[in-house]
Amino acid sequence: MTVRVAVLGPSGRMGRRVLELAAASGELEVAAAIDAPDSPLVGQSIGGVTIGGDLAAGLRGCEVYVDFTTPAATEAAARAAAGARIAAVVGTTGLGAAAERALDELAAVAPVLVAANFSLGVNLLLILAETAARALGPAVDVEVVELHHKHKRDAPSGTALALARALAAGRGQDLDQVLRTERSGEVGARPGGEIGVMAVRGGDVVGEHTAYLFGDGERIELTHRAASRDLFAAGALRAAAWLAGRAPGRYTMRDVLGL
Ligand code: NAD
Repeated sequence: MTVRVAVLGPSGRMGRRVLELAAASGELEVAAAIDAPDSPLVGQSIGGVTIGGDLAAGLRGCEVYVDFTTPAATEAAARAAAGARIAAVVGTTGLGAAAERALDELAAVAPVLVAANFSLGVNLLLILAETAARALGPAVDVEVVELHHKHKRDAPSGTALALARALAAGRGQDLDQVLRTERSGEVGARPGGEIGVMAVRGGDVVGEHTAYLFGDGERIELTHRAASRDLFAAGALRAAAWLAGRAPGRYTMRDVLGL
């Protein structure tokens, strides 16, 4: 049986690839594609699917939706999906408290998976980083550097924050207490225990993340480089097929990938 999926934001960099890969997949049926109501794409067709501008109408009849949009659209979609108990796969990053609350409310009635990164490699990197930070302990200094294309709206990336959280977890720290996202001026010596996360922007970089573990006389660098957005789109569609029909609640890519 194919899973009926709705694709949000099909005019976007990610949404377009999600729609194209889903349309070509035998496991999923694209039942709807929904963009911002004022998008010039509304009414047009991509891969045989007509783009709609009405969230509630588009979600009706779908089992799961895939969302790579904006935090405001993510919040609106989660609220629209709750009434019909539609499963959600959300890749939008930089979500604020309002969108997170709406997703929590949806997760009470439907399965919800939010991931800052859908690649197998990055999810493995999170585990490796946590393991390295645990093994090396508080004596090493840990930092994260991420690179993305010039159009990216949020910084640092959701994946960089997830990587920092994994490092903090390995050291038994709460990231919110030790996170540092900028250094400028007379900052003084680096306090032990701090975790710096720095963002670099330019060109068409799909996404690069490095966790640095600096010891005295040696350092480890754990790097992931994404070469194509298809990696994320395919991972999100794999998550959508896996999530449909599951019990309400929050799930992670570790669940999907069996890591
Ligand atoms: P983009 O700006 O190219 O696309 C955003 C899309 O959202 C546009 O098509 C826009 O029309 C649409 N949109 C806005 N409001 C909408 C609404 N109310 N209803 C429906 N659609 C609406 O951005 P992008 O590069 O495709 O990235 C989108 C998000 O995905 C960002 O938050 C980005 O950081 C994130 N992202 C996540 C991953 C991951 O693996 N989790 C990978 C890449 C990008």
